[in-house]
Amino acid sequence: MTSQLIVQLSAELPESIVTDPEIISSYLTDWTGRFTGTASVIARPKNVAEVVTLVRACAANQARIQIQGGNTGLVGGSVPPDSTDEICVLSTTNLTTITEFDEVSGHITVGAGVTVKALQDFVRPHGWDFAIDLASRESATIGGLAATNAGGVRVCAFGMTKRSVAGVELVMADGRVLTNLAAPLKDNTGYLVEDLAIGSEGTLGVITAIRIKLIRPAARSTLFVIPAESLAHAHELLVRAQGSGNQLLAAEYIDAKSMEIILARTQLRPLWKITPTIALLIELEGTELNVDFPELSLGTSDRTEQRNYWQYRESASDSWTALGQIHKLDVSVAVSDVAEFELSLNNLLSSFKGVRTYGSFGHLADGNLHIEIDGPAIDDFAVDYAVLKLVAEFNGSVSAEHGIGRAKREYLSLTRPALDIEIAKQIKSVFDPTGLFNPGVLYAD
Ligand SMILES: Cc1cc2nc3c(=O)[nH]c(=O)nc-3n(C[C@H](O)[C@H](O)[C@H](O)COP(=O)(O)OP(=O)(O)OC[C@H]3O[C@@H](n4cnc5c(N)ncnc54)[C@H](O)[C@@H]3O)c2cc1C
Repeated sequence: MTSQLIVQLSAELPESIVTDPEIISSYLTDWTGRFTGTASVIARPKNVAEVVTLVRACAANQARIQIQGGNTGLVGGSVPPDSTDEICVLSTTNLTTITEFDEVSGHITVGAGVTVKALQDFVRPHGWDFAIDLASRESATIGGLAATNAGGVRVCAFGMTKRSVAGVELVMADGRVLTNLAAPLKDNTGYLVEDLAIGSEGTLGVITAIRIKLIRPAARSTLFVIPAESLAHAHELLVRAQGSGNQLLAAEYIDAKSMEIILARTQLRPLWKITPTIALLIELEGTELNVDFPELSLGTSDRTEQRNYWQYRESASDSWTALGQIHKLDVSVAVSDVAEFELSLNNLLSSFKGVRTYGSFGHLADGNLHIEIDGPAIDDFAVDYAVLKLVAEFNGSVSAEHGIGRAKREYLSLTRPALDIEIAKQIKSVFDPTGLFNPGVLYAD
């Protein structure tokens, strides 16, 4: 039977909705394949006015909205739950206008559905760049990056997405539009309420547009790929790079197990005869560098060669995923604790029941490890809980950059104080008192 919501949307937004079950099903499963849900309709609004119409129609019909950008999120926050409630997936992929490119200040306003790659392609010919870069760039959207406050390989130089956002436009649950897109860059006039949308994972409303602060990219850089004996050794090399006087643009690592899996799952060739315990990728601005790295280190300032080396690191997550349903954890600890944390992690996982294999890779200069564990059934969370408890003992975070979604919400209280969570829920009730948006994301429904 056609629901009242679909009758209303067919009348108000006939060209922006899809009810074909086959097309709907392509929006229901997340990138990891672990989360799948249900929806009666997909809406792909083309502008903010259509988003407002959609939000009001869903609210009037007691339906709920699942917001989806490029669906590259890794914590199950981009797909609907399996629910008896009527759910509309609001896909932002048609919000792709690029307006207001100020080439003097380097500010640009983009629709939430513009992908990272599309933004890069648009601004690079003008000598500007978007500070955030990640392996999901072809599909991940700027709205998704803002909603998750995404990180990536350039955080050590330019910060998380939050630092690149100069303004947002947000449609709230009652259809009002909150915006500071036109605000001046310097504006200390009280609470920056629009900033709450950054990192909110779609729980406060729909981000429809974002004003981005671009960066001037380094004219030349040198990428080193360095074999290290341990994470402690990699940390020493990082400190050496930081002391070189050249700006650090990236400091990433791949452990031996991850490298083995990358080599087995891709066409990439081994970089050395013997796979080192850690392969460290350090990128520094400039080419005249006064820094020594161990023998067997590879170094290049050639952009094409650099891209080839980056492929190893960028293939890491998907190579692990190709093994099957993997426990994926994205944690952080203080940079100075990374090596000690990894030793404790090895002690824990090497004898953990059911663990077949495990490894990590990640953003060394941010203390951010992506831990991959193969073995335990995907709905057996004992290993996740044990690792995250260890993270809490190190005063770390249970989610460094991927967010909480549906996958990590039971663990939030391990590293966030109860008072934070209480106030966050009060903020949610101001923006979205009936729980219209993203049911079950961040907090249980
Ligand atoms: C190969 C690979 C590499 C990755 N590397 C990194 C990395 O280095 N660093 C990193 O941080 N992440 C990384 N990710 C994760 C992912 O790409 C990011 O989380 C990205 O920000 C998600 O963008 P998206 O458009 O795909 O959002 P989605 O996955 O569609 O959504 C993510 C969350 O944001 C919400 N959302 C999306 N758009 C909006 C909007 N317009 N308004 C309100 N809420 C919205 C969704 O409801 C959901 O809760 C990687 C993923 C893959 C597959």
